[in-house]
Amino acid sequence: MIGDTFPATRNAALLRLTQFAPRAGQAYASGRNTDAGPDQVGAVSMLSPYLRYRMITKQEVVGATLGQHSLLAAEKYVQEVLWRTYWKGWLEMRPSVWKQYLQERDRQLNSFPNIQAIRSAEAGETGIEGFDDWARELLETGYLHNHARMWFASIWIFTLRLPWALGADFFLRHLVDADTASNILSWRWVAGLQTVGKTYLASADNIARFTNGRFAPKGLATIATMPAEMPLCAAQPLPQVSYFDAKKPAFLMVTPEDLHPESVFGATAQINGAGVLFDPDTLWGDNARSFVAEAARDAAARVGNYFNCPPKWLNNLDVASLLAQAREAGAEQIITAYAPVGPVADALARIAPLLASEGVPLVQVRRAWDANFWPHATKGFFPFKERIPKMLKEMGLSS
Ligand SMILES: Cc1cc2nc3c(=O)[nH]c(=O)nc-3n(C[C@H](O)[C@H](O)[C@H](O)COP(=O)(O)OP(=O)(O)OC[C@H]3O[C@@H](n4cnc5c(N)ncnc54)[C@H](O)[C@@H]3O)c2cc1C
Repeated sequence: MIGDTFPATRNAALLRLTQFAPRAGQAYASGRNTDAGPDQVGAVSMLSPYLRYRMITKQEVVGATLGQHSLLAAEKYVQEVLWRTYWKGWLEMRPSVWKQYLQERDRQLNSFPNIQAIRSAEAGETGIEGFDDWARELLETGYLHNHARMWFASIWIFTLRLPWALGADFFLRHLVDADTASNILSWRWVAGLQTVGKTYLASADNIARFTNGRFAPKGLATIATMPAEMPLCAAQPLPQVSYFDAKKPAFLMVTPEDLHPESVFGATAQINGAGVLFDPDTLWGDNARSFVAEAARDAAARVGNYFNCPPKWLNNLDVASLLAQAREAGAEQIITAYAPVGPVADALARIAPLLASEGVPLVQVRRAWDANFWPHATKGFFPFKERIPKMLKEMGLSS
């Protein structure tokens, strides 16, 4: 059961972090690539759904890690946590890659001739050892180890020669931690589209070694041919965020993109009313939906206590009812944590002009972590990662 593996509360996330932090140093660095199987305790933290929906923050995770290890000892773990930040920042500056992905997915859904091959791959019925097991594991648990995600994507693209965008779609529909940037850009990275020409080719030896000999698939592709695509648009500056006036009465809207508004707005914000959005259309699949449904209830209880303002449920982004609730609360603005590129951001972009024209602007507030790191995601991860120690120090996060 997904709820057993990932109880969807902040307390469960904090407990998992506390239990994991002592292992975030050498134990993580040496064991993180091994996927011993779904029933085994591995070296990884399994914090991704909590980080994805921001039930805990990267700052908390890195802070807890550096509370127990030097940055040198925990370098690998800290860098992994920052991969998520990097991917998000990269996509913020290239939102057209998100639109291009949606177009490519729809084009392939409408035109890819071998539907049966897609069905077999998704059902774990290709006859490829490991690959079939990971497909079934994903369907049953909503989670895959990072190395299994890489092997799976590589075999999907290069051995089975299936469209990468449909593989990304399969992951998004079943992962509990389904995330626009981490998923799409990782699939692009495996395909060789992200670091152009640098493909990731899974090999039987590598799979056997890092699955403790559980799988050694035969017949894997030995040549990786990068799929073709139109050139990407150039990077654009990070989108500006509007000024948040903490003294103005506000209606707080909590979205699945950030379920810890307490650490965005703090106790001084003048919050007169609040609503928690649960719109299934902005979530990817049933695993993500059932996780977020519970996580949103947890957030609603916390928000009610923290801001002394029990929130209402917003079942979809209906402008009329949102405005009515904000006005009833006497709010002059609707505030929400910044939603990065993806379905929630698209929905907010649709309603923002309507709210502004009614005199109740939508104000998105970006976390300091993202505001600091995202501007540096202009090129590859290597130059980004070089900046991590200095930036963590500036943010008061060093061991
Ligand atoms: C093809 C493919 C698709 C992926 N799709 C998603 C997705 O939809 N959602 C998602 O959250 N992650 C995705 N990832 C990234 C990564 O696999 C997961 O975040 C990670 O496996 C989560 O497990 P963990 O928390 O135990 O990781 P740990 O190894 O314990 O890492 C700690 C944290 O660091 C971050 N992290 C680790 N590895 C990566 C990575 N490669 N990229 C980005 N962040 C990382 C995550 O926040 C993770 O929780 C994908 C990777 C690949 C190769």
